[in-house]
Amino acid sequence: MTAVLSPITGETIQEVPDTGLNGLDAALRAAEAAAPVWRRVPAGERGGLLVEIGRRMRARAEEIAHLETLNTGKLPADTRREADRAAACFEYYGGYADKAVGTVIPVAGPFHTYTVREPYGVVAGVIPWNVPYFFAAKKIAPALAFGNVVLVKPAEETPLTALLLQEIVTGVLAEAGLPDGIAQVIPGGGDLGRALVADPRTKLVVFTGSDRTGAAVGAAAAAHYAPAALELGGKSPQLVFADADLDAAADGVVEGFAGSCGQMCIAGSRLYVQREVYPEFLELLTTRVEGLRVGDPRVAGTQVGPQVTGPQADKTRGLIAGGAAAGATVVARAAVPDEPTLAGGNWVAPTVFTGVADDSPLLTEEIFGPVLCAASFADEDEAVALAHDTRFGLGAGIWTGDPGRGHRLAAELRVGTVWINTYRILSDLVPFGGVGASGYGREGGTDAVNLYTWTKSVWTSTTPGVPGVYRKG
Ligand code: NAD
Repeated sequence: MTAVLSPITGETIQEVPDTGLNGLDAALRAAEAAAPVWRRVPAGERGGLLVEIGRRMRARAEEIAHLETLNTGKLPADTRREADRAAACFEYYGGYADKAVGTVIPVAGPFHTYTVREPYGVVAGVIPWNVPYFFAAKKIAPALAFGNVVLVKPAEETPLTALLLQEIVTGVLAEAGLPDGIAQVIPGGGDLGRALVADPRTKLVVFTGSDRTGAAVGAAAAAHYAPAALELGGKSPQLVFADADLDAAADGVVEGFAGSCGQMCIAGSRLYVQREVYPEFLELLTTRVEGLRVGDPRVAGTQVGPQVTGPQADKTRGLIAGGAAAGATVVARAAVPDEPTLAGGNWVAPTVFTGVADDSPLLTEEIFGPVLCAASFADEDEAVALAHDTRFGLGAGIWTGDPGRGHRLAAELRVGTVWINTYRILSDLVPFGGVGASGYGREGGTDAVNLYTWTKSVWTSTTPGVPGVYRKG
C-alpha cells in the first residue's frame, strides 16, 4: 500500500494498493484478452461509448476537481478546467472514432490499392504527477477511440483521480457487456512503469514525464520494437519586445512561470526582454510577484498553491538557494504562508532571478517550480539565439505589438508550440508535443490518429491471372 499525501497539510488522504509485478502480468493478460473484442466493436459504437463516458465525467466534474485539488494542491479553478477538458477529450475522440479513414491510391496497373488504419492492440500510458486526471483521460480516450486497449500507470503520488476515471470508464463498458481489461489504471511507482514499457506485450508506449525518464522509456520501447511518443519537459522562453502591451505581457509571464506553482511542462521559465524596456518590465513583474497570494488553494483569493510533493518542493528550494549562493540576484519573491495548520505543506516562494550564469542549473535544468530567470536582448536575432540556448523545445511566448514580427519569430523558433500575445492556453483540438529534449510524437487533435494507429496497405488485382514480372512458362 502507498499512502497518498495532501501537499496542503501533509496528511494522508487515502492508502492505495500497489499493482506489483504479478498484478501487472494479470493486467496485461486481461488487456490482451480484451483487445480483439474491443477492436471488433464498430467504430461508431466505440465512439458512442466514449461520449457516454464523457457525459458521466461531466456529471462528476466538481467532485473530481475537488479530489484533484486535495491531492495536487492546485487551485480549484485549474482542476475544474482540467476536469472539463478531460470530459471534452472523451467527447472529441468519441466523435472522431468512426472518422479514422484510409485512402484509395491511384497506382499504375490493374490494381485496387487502399490503406486502412489499424489499432496497435495494447497501449501503455505512463503519466506524471502534475495533471493526473486530464493526462489519464488524454491517454485513454484516443487509444480506445481508434480500437486499442490501454493501461495507464499514474504517478505514485497522485493516482486518485485516475482511479476514479477508471471506475467511470469500466462502468460504462461493463453496462455494454464488454470485458474487463479494455482500460485499466495500474497504480505503482517507477519500477512498475519500467516493467510495463519493457514488456513486449505492450505495442505502443505513450509517455508523459521528465526528459531523463523519457530517454529510458524510449529505449525500453525500442528494444521490443514498440513505437513511443514522449511528451517531456521544457525550459520555455518568453520573449517580450518593447512594442508589446507590457502590462498584458507581465500578467502572461507571471501566469506562465508561477501558475500551478510552476509545475507545468510548458512553464515559461526563461524571460528575455528587449533592452529599452527591461528595467520598466522588471518593475511590473516585481509588483505582481511580490503581491502573489501563496497558500491553501481551497481558500478564495489564493493564486499559488503548494508543490505536489515534498521532494519536489525540497528540490526547488535547493535550486533557489544554490542560485542565490552562486551570485544570481533575487529581484522578486512572494511570501509563503506561516499559518500553523499549513506547516506540513510543500510551500515554495515564486522567485525571479537576474544575473544568472549561463551554466547555472537555474538555466540549464527544468526546475518544475515557480522560478523565473530574466535577462535582456537587443534585437530579434539575439532573442531567437537566447530562446534556442537550451536542449529543450516545448514552447515559447512572444509578446509584441507587431503581428508581422510575431509570425516571423514563430517561423524561426524550434519549439512544439508558439503563443503570440498569450500563454498557457491549450486545447485537445490542437496537436501538442516537443522537439529535442522535450520529446517526439504528437498527441491531440487529428494528429492522434497517426499516433494511435498504424497504416496497412492492401493491393488487389482487378484482372484474372497474375500481373507483374512473374509469368508462368
Ligand atoms: P518522471 O519522469 O519522474 O515520472 C513520470 C512517470 O514515469 C511516473 O509515473 C513515474 O512513476 C514513471 N517512471 C519513472 N521511472 C520510469 C521508468 N524507468 N520507466 C517507466 N516509467 C517510469 O516525471 P515526474 O517527476 O512525475 O513529472 C514531472 C515531469 O513531467 C517534468 O519533467 C514535466 O515537464 C513532465 N511533463 C511533461 C508534459 C508534456 O506534455 N510535455 C506534461 C506534464 C509534465
